This record gives sequence, C-alpha cells and structure tokens, in this order.
Amino acid sequence: MRLSHIDPAWDLIVIGGGITGAGVFREAARSGLKVLLLEGRDFSWGTSSRSAKLVHGGLRYLKEGRIRLTLESVRARQRLLAEAPGLVEPLEFLMPVYEGYGPGRWALKAGLSVYDLMAHKRQHKYYRAEEFLQLVPCIRSENLSGGFRFFDAQVDDCRLVLRLINETPANRGTALNYTEVKEIRRFSGGRVDGVTARDAETGTTRELSAHAVINATGAWAERLHPSPEPHRHLRPLRGSHLIFPQAVLPVDRAVSFIHPSDKRPIYAFPWEGAVLFGTTDVDHREDLNEEPAITREEADYLMDSLHFFFPDPRVSLEHCISTFSGIRSVLSEGKLPPSQESREHVVWAADGLVTVTGGKLTTFRKLAWDTLEAVRPFVGGVAVSGKRDRVFSPWPDSPPGSHVDGQEWRRLCGRYGEQAAELVRQSDPGLLTPIPGTRTLWAELPFVAEREQVRHLADLLLRRVRIGLLTPLGGEALLDEIQRLCEPTLSWDTKRWGEERQMYLEMWGKAYSVPGGFPHRREGM
Ligand SMILES: Cc1cc2nc3c(=O)[nH]c(=O)nc-3n(C[C@H](O)[C@H](O)[C@H](O)COP(=O)(O)OP(=O)(O)OC[C@H]3O[C@@H](n4cnc5c(N)ncnc54)[C@H](O)[C@@H]3O)c2cc1C
Repeated sequence: MRLSHIDPAWDLIVIGGGITGAGVFREAARSGLKVLLLEGRDFSWGTSSRSAKLVHGGLRYLKEGRIRLTLESVRARQRLLAEAPGLVEPLEFLMPVYEGYGPGRWALKAGLSVYDLMAHKRQHKYYRAEEFLQLVPCIRSENLSGGFRFFDAQVDDCRLVLRLINETPANRGTALNYTEVKEIRRFSGGRVDGVTARDAETGTTRELSAHAVINATGAWAERLHPSPEPHRHLRPLRGSHLIFPQAVLPVDRAVSFIHPSDKRPIYAFPWEGAVLFGTTDVDHREDLNEEPAITREEADYLMDSLHFFFPDPRVSLEHCISTFSGIRSVLSEGKLPPSQESREHVVWAADGLVTVTGGKLTTFRKLAWDTLEAVRPFVGGVAVSGKRDRVFSPWPDSPPGSHVDGQEWRRLCGRYGEQAAELVRQSDPGLLTPIPGTRTLWAELPFVAEREQVRHLADLLLRRVRIGLLTPLGGEALLDEIQRLCEPTLSWDTKRWGEERQMYLEMWGKAYSVPGGFPHRREGM
C-alpha cells in the first residue's frame, strides 16, 4: 500500500510509527475509528528501536516517590507478560550491595518490597556475598556485602511496535512507512482539517483529511506542534548502549549497579543471545534527521563502569559487536543535568491536534487511552472500548509440523503472533535453523521481507530482525546469503542490491559501530 492508493478521508490520522503512535493506532482501530498511521522513515526507526528493551515498573520512579507511575508501569508489565509470552519475557535482575557504596541493603529492601506489593507477588530475595558471587561470578568481589534478586521483563522493542501494527485489522486501520507528514492542515478558524503527506520514495504529495490528528513524533514533536509553554521545550537526550558477545561478558541475568563516577544506574543484561550494556544520558545536539550514534566519551564512560564492576582486564571495547543510541525527549527548561529531568510524558491538545511525547514502552496502552480521550470531542464522542480485552491475539499451543520445538515456537509466536503458524508452514525446514551467533531463523528473513513493508536493507536487518546488531560488522559476512534468500520477495535488481548493501554498511559504520571501528575484525574476515 502506498500514499497514492489510500482513501483521502479518515476519522483519525496518527503521525509517527514508534510505540506511542502504534499503540494509539491499535487502540483507535479497536474502538471503531477509521485510522491512518503515517511514519516518515521506517516503523520504530526512532527511539522505539533503540531503547533498553525493558518492560519495567521503574525502580527509579519509586525512588523519586512517583508511586502512581510505578504502579501503572508494574500493572502494565504484568499484563504484557500474560498477553505476549515469547515477546515480553521475565528478566531476572541482580543488584549487588557494596559496603559504603550506593544505596544500602535496607533502603533497597524497602523499595523492592513495595515493588513486589504492586505486582501482588513476593519476588525479591537477598543473598549473602558468597551466594551472590555464585550467581554472577565475574562481578567485583571487593567490599561486596551481598545483593538482591528481583524480576522485571524485557522485549524486542521493534517487534512490539510491529505486532501492534500487524494485528490491527486492515479494514479499520492502514499504516504506511516512508510517508512523512510535512504540514498540519487547518480550517480558517484554526481547527485541524488533516495533513499534507509525502511519499519519501516517489516524492508524491497528498492532502488527507481527518477529524483529528495525533502527533506521536517523539523527539521531533515540536516540528509539527511548537510547545505551548514559552519557557519549556523538548530537550533531546541521548542514551547509548554497547553490545557484547555473551562469551566475553558472561552475564546470564541482568545486573544493575551504580556508576562509580556520577552514581547513575548502569546495567548489563542478556538479550537475544548477546549482552546489552548501558546506558548514557547526555544532551543530543546533532541533527535529529541523522541516525544518532555513540561518541567515544560515552563509550569510555560505559567501559569505566564495566571495568570497575567486571574486573576481567580482557574485556575491552574491541570485543563490542555493535552499539546503538536512542533519543529521549523530555520537556525542560534546560537548567537541570540530563539525569535529573522528569521522564513523564507530555500531552498538548488544541483544536483537534493532540501531541503526545515522552513516556515509556511499558505503558504504551495507558498513554494511547489518555490520548484518545483527549481527541474524543473531535471524533464524534467515540470512547475507547475494550480496555479489559487482550491487546495481542493468543496463539496455538503447538506448532504445525515437527520442525520447531516448544521454545522456538514460543519465540516465533511472540514475534509474529498468529502469523507464526504460516511462517513455519511455508518455510523450507532447512531454513528453520538459527543464523549463527543469533536466535533468528533464516526463514524469518524472506517471510518479513515479503509481508512487512521492507523498503531498505536496514529495515530488514536492524528492525524486522535484529541481526544487524547481533552479528559482527552488521552481518556483512551474511549479506550474500541474505540477498539470495530475499531476492525473490524484495524484487530489487542487482544494481539496487548493490546500492542497498553499500548504503546499509555505510550507515552501520556511522551509527552502530564502536567509535574508532574494528580494524582487527575487518582484517580477519
Ligand atoms: C536510551 C533509551 C532507553 C530507553 N529504555 C526504555 C526501556 O527500557 N523501557 C521503556 O519502557 N522505555 C524506555 N525508553 C523510553 C522509550 O523508548 C520511549 O519513550 C519510546 O520509544 C518513545 O516512543 P515514541 O513512539 O514516542 O517515539 P519514537 O519511537 O521516537 O517514534 C517517533 C517516530 O515519529 C517519526 N516521525 C518524526 N517526524 C515525522 C513526520 N513529520 N512524519 C511522519 N513520521 C515522523 C520518527 O521517524 C519516529 O519513528 C528508553 C529511551 C531511551 C532514549
């Protein structure tokens, strides 16, 4: 589906295909509105593919006394765990306690007890130093007095966005990527009439009308809707992560600790067979249209804490498989240090335009409901319905055939929902095997290339599946095989494949590699 083929008139147009826009899109369609989602780049191209991938209550909010926000997040986490197994999975966290360093045992115990109460489950446990070291042997043992275990959850952020989009029935909602909104259109009295949108590939521009428009463009929100508060504007803050092979940083549970220099929380946790290490929190002064990238200073900052808490001198930046950076937008007067800025989301509503930005992945549904409540007067009073219903469709207990086991089936259903059965059924059994060094099956590549609006190689390798983050040099060594598998579905000619490969590798080098590159790996390949 392209911009030139769609209806010109809608009940609601949602701008931005990150988690916020996808959540509003899904909930609006369920409530009976005819809704259009327009994303200027790729679905989840913004912060929603670059988060820490935690579905969490947010101990940080609890520490700041934001009980209501923590409670909402814990409830959302519990619901997602129940409704999206295989996509949202429990994550065991370990938090060391050092003598005279960071929050003490009793302060942590109090916080974790409240956290458990909110989830109606007693989940945290304290371990003495010797026991704790057995759980995470590579951690610093000097002055370790013990540590806590508790639970949160994790997700593939892109697949979360894609499941919301893919499970929205086509007769209620249409979602287009690579379609940028250039302008909000208004009647002479100021009320919103629709948008002017442009197909990024063909350059075609169209005027579309809607009873209301939702601006869910994250860090870009002020481009379409300037802040109504003259002294507070969106402040883009960058958070960056390093990804290590698990063999180098042997962490099989999340470990969370306090950075030795500025006391910010840092974590290392297993994700898709690798280990994520992050994050930073710095002002992002670069062009928002460019892919954000980690700086050498951020990488050094993260490595300082890694070496402090995991004192194995062999782990170095050169072992890093890849990096990624995301931009958080916070409403700010610009006076506080980044980490002290409030993470609360922002809603501005005026004349049929509602802007919603900030917040978290975890609470996307509540954010969608609040946003739809704000446009209700403009869409004929239609109220959000089905709040108690599941957000994701359930899937069958067992796979068709015998080529995938129970654990693989759970993973596929988490990522593809009801479509997982078709993926298994239509794939050559030889392709139902993992790509080396990852959990992604070869069969996933042609499947998503055919069905999920893949326009560029980066969409395929960095967002539909994540092998661009999980294999050396963005999967450069796999590109011939990927081309062979996806050629029949992507219908790119040889010249286009060449251009896509070059564009992808250049972009990967700029935004997903370690500053300074991996010269030793290049020689070895
Ligand atoms: C480093 C980091 C770690 C985080 N970790 C977590 C975490 O672990 N758990 C959690 O719950 N939350 C986390 N968050 C917060 C969470 O990731 C964000 O709140 C969320 O992803 C924001 O989603 P969004 O849809 O509002 O914005 P985005 O995902 O940025 O989406 C906005 C989209 O709008 C598009 N767009 C912009 N302008 C236009 C236009 N004119 N026309 C069409 N499209 C346009 C962009 O291309 C973009 O795709 C983290 C944030 C950061 C920065």
